[in-house]
Amino acid sequence: MQRWEATSTLAFSTRRSARGVLLKIGRWLASEHPEGLEPANWTREICAAYVAAVDRFHVGAFTGTQNAIQQRLGQPISAATKQAYLCVPRQFFRDGQEWGWFPRRFDPGRALATPRSVKALIGPRPRVIDDAACAKLLWAGLHLETDDVPASGGTRFYSVELIRALALTWLFGGLRSDEISRLRVGCIRWQPDHDVSKVKDDVICFLDVPVHKTGTPFTKPVDPLLGRAIAEWESVRPVQPLLADPRTGELVPLLFAVRAKRVAKAYLNLALIPALCRKAGVPEADARGRITSHRARSTIASQLYNAKEPMTLFELQAWLGHRSPQSTHRSPQSTQYYARITPTTLAKAYNDAGYFARTTRTIEVLMDREAVTTGAAANGTPWQYFDLGHGYCTFSFFEQCPHPMACARCDFYVPKDSTKAQLLEAKENLTRMMAEIQLTDDERAAVTDGATAVDHLLERLADVPTPAGPTPRQMTTFVPIGDLTTGGG
Ligand code: SF4
Repeated sequence: MQRWEATSTLAFSTRRSARGVLLKIGRWLASEHPEGLEPANWTREICAAYVAAVDRFHVGAFTGTQNAIQQRLGQPISAATKQAYLCVPRQFFRDGQEWGWFPRRFDPGRALATPRSVKALIGPRPRVIDDAACAKLLWAGLHLETDDVPASGGTRFYSVELIRALALTWLFGGLRSDEISRLRVGCIRWQPDHDVSKVKDDVICFLDVPVHKTGTPFTKPVDPLLGRAIAEWESVRPVQPLLADPRTGELVPLLFAVRAKRVAKAYLNLALIPALCRKAGVPEADARGRITSHRARSTIASQLYNAKEPMTLFELQAWLGHRSPQSTHRSPQSTQYYARITPTTLAKAYNDAGYFARTTRTIEVLMDREAVTTGAAANGTPWQYFDLGHGYCTFSFFEQCPHPMACARCDFYVPKDSTKAQLLEAKENLTRMMAEIQLTDDERAAVTDGATAVDHLLERLADVPTPAGPTPRQMTTFVPIGDLTTGGG
């Protein structure tokens, strides 16, 4: 394990966390499969036993120290943790086999694959900040004062310009905390000819992001408010020596540095964000967990993707600096991870799709006001005429008729070419209204799918009585429409 850690080219933090998992595996081997303590002795059987054991691990199993997890001891571990416990030995054996340290007795990708049941539980779950809380945090960031952030040990190291620039970079930049802490002096560029001292709304401000976790340096447009806050800090930033960029090793003028020391990455999570939450009156944790530096990135990405005129996935990918919009096993938190459709957008799309509307149909209804005002309607004279196209249905409870879309032309039926219909249409006291009726699947098919569907509906209803009493078969010799069109009628 030590040899692997010394040889691997993975990032330092990744190697350190992998070391913890490998130590845990060592304890499990010592307890369950001592023959596997030598990696060369691992077989597919040991792999299978390990995968099964991981699936049953609980918090505290085979850990070195349990001080920090006292509260959760014995609880089941999360699917993401199971995935990590399998990902590390996969990498370890893949590397060891590749480097010729032990024989290729199994394929680590297959023998130590994450079970499908575990994978299914791991999905995009961007921890966006609620809209109202986000708006309050933005307000707090824009009005941040020195006293809002507690001094460390009674000494105030950071000026208000630095604190405000850092807060707005977090709130508007959509950057990872590592990128924020490694920004360089001069990272803001304005569209040519812009005078920073003049406040204009239509200016474009660009932010140069340094080399990052998944790619090379890139430039992104940001809100001018952020550009102005950084320009303000740069104007008072004391002259300092160049400092080493921890990722590239270059000597660079780091933007957020004071007294030749970089502002600690933890400052954002442990001091500035809690201070912003206090000023904004927002709890430091919500249903999705603590408000940390990464949550602003998820929130901004989600808002840009769900805006009225949203960014496309590829535009968002470029803005976030992702190598690919798709998730991979190496980069599970890619653009798709952040660009989750919000419930509001989904609700609008659902309404626009008209699932409910497709089950209804609107038809015109003529109302004979004369029949109502003269009291004739009370004596049984029709006063409502549902327009069926070829004629009118005078049945008051038309929606309850089983034959609405394949009218059987019962006693309530008035053909349009009849004298009665023509007299009705010539009346002055007519009110035209629209009425929505619910359709069954067969009826909807009859409306949208044509003659065959109508035939099917007619056949099905042939022995169903009409509101007037007789069934269609009793009223007339039943002739399907298909037969009429082929000359059968
Ligand atoms: S069958 Fe009779 S009640 Fe039904 S729609 Fe036709 S006319 Fe109206």
